[in-house]
Amino acid sequence: MDNDKLVPCPACGHLVSKATADKCPNCGKELMSDKKKAQAFVETIGGIISIIFLWKLGVLQFLWLGIKSLFR
Ligand SMILES: [Zn+2]
Repeated sequence: MDNDKLVPCPACGHLVSKATADKCPNCGKELMSDKKKAQAFVETIGGIISIIFLWKLGVLQFLWLGIKSLFR
């Protein structure tokens, strides 16, 4: 039994395995497979967290330099 979920390509209607294919084999259109969706989600969250982390580091460094210059 084939347990691959086949979905029609949004561009040409060719049936594509959603679980494994990133591209339509018929017309080459990029498809969002479930794996890719999850990966994109993790990358987005990771990006946001690292931006917040870097921003906080910058603020702390700025405060530290400000305090240091007060006591010089
Ligand atoms: Zn297609």
